[in-house]
Amino acid sequence: MCKWAIVARPSHMNRIFGICYKLSDFPISLCLKGYHFDMASTTTSTAESHPDVVIVGAGFGGIYQLYLLRKRGYNVKVFEAGADLGGTWYWNAYPGARVDSDIPIYELSIEELWKDWTWSEKFPGQKELLRYFAYVDSKLDVKRDIQFNTRVLGANFDTASDCWAVKTEDGKTTYPRFMVLCTGFASKPYIPPFKGLDNFKGIWHHTARWPHEGVGLKGKRVGVIGTGASGVQVIQECALEVSHLTVFQRTPNLALPMNQSNPSEEFQNKQKIETYRDTYLFRKTTFAGFHYDLIKKNTVDVSDEERNATYEDLWVAGGFRFWLGNYEDLFNNQVSNDYAYTFWRDKVRERVNHPVRKEILAPTVAPHPFGTKRPCLEQQYYEVYNQSNVDLINLQEHSISEITEIGVLTSDGVEHELDVLILATGFDAVTGSMTQIDIKGTDGLFIREKWGPRLKTYLGLTTANYPNMFFLYGPQGPTAFCNGPTCVVCR
Ligand code: NAP
Repeated sequence: MCKWAIVARPSHMNRIFGICYKLSDFPISLCLKGYHFDMASTTTSTAESHPDVVIVGAGFGGIYQLYLLRKRGYNVKVFEAGADLGGTWYWNAYPGARVDSDIPIYELSIEELWKDWTWSEKFPGQKELLRYFAYVDSKLDVKRDIQFNTRVLGANFDTASDCWAVKTEDGKTTYPRFMVLCTGFASKPYIPPFKGLDNFKGIWHHTARWPHEGVGLKGKRVGVIGTGASGVQVIQECALEVSHLTVFQRTPNLALPMNQSNPSEEFQNKQKIETYRDTYLFRKTTFAGFHYDLIKKNTVDVSDEERNATYEDLWVAGGFRFWLGNYEDLFNNQVSNDYAYTFWRDKVRERVNHPVRKEILAPTVAPHPFGTKRPCLEQQYYEVYNQSNVDLINLQEHSISEITEIGVLTSDGVEHELDVLILATGFDAVTGSMTQIDIKGTDGLFIREKWGPRLKTYLGLTTANYPNMFFLYGPQGPTAFCNGPTCVVCR
């Protein structure tokens, strides 16, 4: 007789799992905004090989699930491929890596954590985030349930025992009732199939696999392919020390000013008393889970003076406010969106001296509607292009033909000589984090096969034929337009 249950509201969720077990009065909640799932148990397995729950990943999501499930008496085991806590912040050790959400929403909203932690910057960098994760462990002792350096290779659900069989790269198999994938949306780096990459005689790294010991860039000829958030950050950081920088841009990034600052400890302590609790409640009600929201007015309904004054305020306030704190018709009215893009374009153009570069970085016509692709935050990024030792290659004019022994050859026949090549080319995003694992459902299909023709989830939390398997911050969740900790914590 099985002693387990999943109760999910709306009530028809039980049918989705295919298996419904006896309920008990001991619930575990796996929750995302607006939806509530309960797992219940009358027994708690303590066996190493048969934990109640296996969590994959030890970033914000995995740590929070561990904290929650442990508190409710469950025996949990976490597998983490990296050597330490942090998830994306463990892997993305490239120069300049920094979060794009301001404190205090980019941390766990657990009072015993935030009350004693002080940040040095409003938008903390990767090293400070790793210190934060060490602090989390010092408070919650999470590491005792985490097995590091252990990649999960596959998992299949055994309908005879109603358990998952989770295979790890140490050759072992673990049999939990439940499996929670906290693999984030960006754990599988994307390396484009550039011809000749292996022939390059210099050093090359993807930003998401940057060596923790660092790479000497000072005085080197460095090339960066990609101008997403990772590219923008690494470019503005390394431009300060390299002898020559070549940026290969395919699509301009509509980056917004970060407006970094160093809030004092005194200020943070005051905020903790006066605003933190309200902030954590308020973000649950906002469009994107941030602590500011869209203005409840339409751009087209306000005067030019009012609109420009509002835009200026949002611009100066920094962060994503010009995106997620803008007028609420930004995303559904082309005229409104054009106003925002024009403002953005003109602001950026003021900062770039060279007329051709102005057009490459901030084109006359928007490359896509503003804000429909997650922008990134920048600090002095556009000024980099006024440096005499920086080249900007527009790949829309001349694409990359191949990587040679000495650099990058573009289709105009120019060979750009480099000592170090940085691939800031992003990820097999969102689904890639899960489909890279051989997860087999009750119908015998790997999840990558199931999702091949059509991605289908229930509320972005689970999917049919994969019983007792949940995922956070993944496909069909608010993921790309939200904030990581908000996504994994809010219920
Ligand atoms: P990304 O946004 O996917 O950017 C990848 C870049 O590589 C794009 O500029 C892309 O150009 C370019 N690229 C890809 N293939 C290429 C090819 N074959 N030739 C030339 N260029 C190519 O990846 P990311 O910058 O690593 O960011 C990924 C996600 O992580 C984003 O959602 C971002 O917001 C998040 N992130 C956040 C932070 C932060 O919190 N501050 C930091 C880093 C990343 P196209 O645009 O033309 O495809």
